Amino acid sequence: MKKIEHIGIAVRDLAKANDLFARLLGREHYKIEEVASEGVRTSFFELGESKIELLAASSDDSPIAKFLAKRGEGIHHIAFAVEDIWAEMKRLEAEGFRPLQEEPREGADGKLVAFFHPKTAGGVLVEICQDKPLE
Ligand code: ZN
Repeated sequence: MKKIEHIGIAVRDLAKANDLFARLLGREHYKIEEVASEGVRTSFFELGESKIELLAASSDDSPIAKFLAKRGEGIHHIAFAVEDIWAEMKRLEAEGFRPLQEEPREGADGKLVAFFHPKTAGGVLVEICQDKPLE
């Protein structure tokens, strides 16, 4: 793991949360991106080496909608930047962390991402991510 790439925060209303976090962080978000396959709209704030990723549901049956219904707003996941996501997936699986997918998939912000189950990671939904290799 290289660094904390971002912290993901589940929010009900992306516009309101953008305003709140702009006031908190003293800067505006720099982009909004919809990841249709995940049923999520994301907004990103840059903060030094790391980012804050706000996540709002774009469909009622998306994982974020379910999370909000069950747990309410708040920290949803921590994302770690890695050098080689395939190697890191293998390493974490061998260490007993349960992946939520078999292969890395395309996430927001030009990344390949993979998630690990919070039950195997101290209650924390863990994301690992790397920049998409150039085609
Ligand atoms: Zn994330």
